[in-house]
Amino acid sequence: MTWSVWQVTPVLTSIFFILGVFTLYVVSVDWLKSQIRLRFPVIKEHLIESWFGIIYILIFVYSLQLGIARQNISWLFMNFQLIAVIFCAYFLAIHVPFRAFWPIVIVFMWINSSFSYWESWIYSLAIISFYRSMNHVYRWSQKSNNVFPIYFTTGTFFGMVLWFLVKIKFSLSWYIFVQEISYFLIFQTLLYSYISMLNKNQRLKANLAHSAHSDALTQAKNYAAYADKIDSLFQNSHHNQLHLSMMMFDIDHFKHINDTYGHLAGDKVLQQVVDVVQTVINENDSRIELYRTGGEEFNVLLPSYDLDETQKIVPQIFNALNHLGIDFNGQHIDFTVSVGVSEMSKKDDDPNDFYKRVDENLYHSKTNGRMQITAR
Ligand code: GH3
Ligand code: MG
Ligand code: MG
Repeated sequence: MTWSVWQVTPVLTSIFFILGVFTLYVVSVDWLKSQIRLRFPVIKEHLIESWFGIIYILIFVYSLQLGIARQNISWLFMNFQLIAVIFCAYFLAIHVPFRAFWPIVIVFMWINSSFSYWESWIYSLAIISFYRSMNHVYRWSQKSNNVFPIYFTTGTFFGMVLWFLVKIKFSLSWYIFVQEISYFLIFQTLLYSYISMLNKNQRLKANLAHSAHSDALTQAKNYAAYADKIDSLFQNSHHNQLHLSMMMFDIDHFKHINDTYGHLAGDKVLQQVVDVVQTVINENDSRIELYRTGGEEFNVLLPSYDLDETQKIVPQIFNALNHLGIDFNGQHIDFTVSVGVSEMSKKDDDPNDFYKRVDENLYHSKTNGRMQITAR
């Protein structure tokens, strides 16, 4: 086939162009997030999406416009620009302060040499209002199930106002006006369905990742999550010479609880244990993380804590658990825990060396009468 005879209607090409631009965004932002997560885990994902999104869209809008600026067809890519506004304001939910719009708008007007046209100034104001309104529609979508009618009405209203201003400035015919509005309606509807589909996929992936890393009974993070975290924490602490401590605890004679009161009672004990330990952690330091690493064995990672500093929190967890009796079917169940604690040492070659020491300390507590802490 010869490309010069390639005949596809422009609206079809535009549809695939728009979908391509957003697919490229989704793929590249995913890659960027995974890279940043590895190096700078504290940076929030929404921040990466927002900054990358706005830079990506500005490059896209400006580079399209540069090709046709200062000509009498400089309105040609306007529908793409309107779609870009919806994408940033609604789908990425980026809040842009009022004063930050002006540099963007002024560069755009400079590219088009349109400072002397009153229509362009009104157009700029209308586009800023369009952006802000789409931000509101996004906020509304967080509370409502069916946001499409309001999304569609807002888009259509601003699309018509903005195209009307362009019609006046470039003396476009009513035919072009109606045609462009129709294209815009198709684009905004397609964008809505396409991004909703992508978001649904993302949510599904996030849910799967969450279940792969959490324990269904207690909702605590599971062994897989622990294995991932200890590897990265160990490397990071070694590399940056930071402290790292670990606490392990095991419920004493748990088999006896199951045998006496039944498995459901045992399950309830496990759930209460997680709730109580998580509450103590939340009251102290959100960097500390709890994992259910075995049946009735738990692991607590304390980044930046040396052995002395663990004294601030380990006894709190220990006391809270030993005083936690639970009521099950009218019966009161008391239980105790044994604890092992240690801090990472320069001599540890890998996380297992560190883990082994904590495990030995826990074993020491068990063999010396249980219900005690061994920290060394
Ligand atoms: P020790 O004081 O030496 O730790 O004794 P123990 O009885 O706690 O330890 P053991 O390893 O003999 O028994 C652990 C029990 O935990 C056996 C297993 O049936 C039970 N268990 C493991 N996972 C679950 C669970 O999800 N629910 C319930 N109810 N029991 C569980
Ligand atoms: Mg036990
Ligand atoms: Mg055990």
